[in-house]
Amino acid sequence: MSKIDQYAVFGHPIKHSKSPRIHSLFAEQTQQQLSYCAQDVAADSFTTAVTEFFQQGGKGLNCTVPLKELAWQHADSLSDRAQFSKAVNTLALQADGTLLGDNTDGLGLVADLSINHSITLSDSRILILGAGGASRGIIAPLMEKSPAHIVIANRTVEKAITLSNEFSQLGDISACAYDEIKNSEFDLILNATSASLTGELPPLADSLLAKNGNCYDLAYGNEPTAFVKWGLAHGAEKSLDGLGMLVEQAAEAFFIWRAVRPETADIITLLNSERN
Ligand code: NDP
Repeated sequence: MSKIDQYAVFGHPIKHSKSPRIHSLFAEQTQQQLSYCAQDVAADSFTTAVTEFFQQGGKGLNCTVPLKELAWQHADSLSDRAQFSKAVNTLALQADGTLLGDNTDGLGLVADLSINHSITLSDSRILILGAGGASRGIIAPLMEKSPAHIVIANRTVEKAITLSNEFSQLGDISACAYDEIKNSEFDLILNATSASLTGELPPLADSLLAKNGNCYDLAYGNEPTAFVKWGLAHGAEKSLDGLGMLVEQAAEAFFIWRAVRPETADIITLLNSERN
């Protein structure tokens, strides 16, 4: 067995994941000895792959699409935020051999919005597009920042309603279909759909974004996403993609595993420069 602590990200597809690069930059920066690789794992082989990974001495895992709900079920114990979101993106081996499940996506988003981009969340009117796993992970951390209200719009409206009901004890949150928000205005629109991955856009009314409002696509790519372009075309003060969130959620996972917090700013700058 290797003496270097082993970490990995499991997902499908996983080939283009930036996580191995980000974690190796964190390890170099914090002088931690570890290895981190990406492994293509489909949902039906998840349990076997996780068991093998930890039996072979693995210390921690990230789980991405389509495995976050399975990871939530697999964990022996859950952080409060993971419990709430019903999705786990980080598994950490504990001293007693059990697996702790956590979800660092929401913290990553909030850090990128509020620290890296100085976007105010308190008292703001927030629209979340999409009601999948990513939306589940971001609602509680956003609510902690006391927004005026959160509206979730989704193609399959029932999923948005379920989500809104699950989080209603945390603050003012509601759900609707896209055509029901055409006369509303929001200070921040978060695209948590996977539409950008295929170059598509949810059906958005032209008047949705308030003056000086901001847009943020959780998805990212080498080119601006369709939603980032939509934000720019509709007067967004900032229209950003999710690369910063990716680095911030990774930093939080690194901290859970290693008890050392990497500096993210230089790494975000480096990754941004690599896609220009
Ligand atoms: P899910 O598959 O769980 O959910 C996808 C959501 O997108 C659903 O609400 C679905 O609607 C909606 N959707 C898909 N296609 C369209 C479309 N053409 N028009 C309108 N709505 C659409 O995905 P996740 O929640 O896990 O991920 C969502 C996005 O967030 C992805 O782009 C992912 O890469 C990104 N992400 C980024 C992270 C980061 O660190 N930057 C972290 C986590 C996620 P319906 O319910 O009707 O099917």
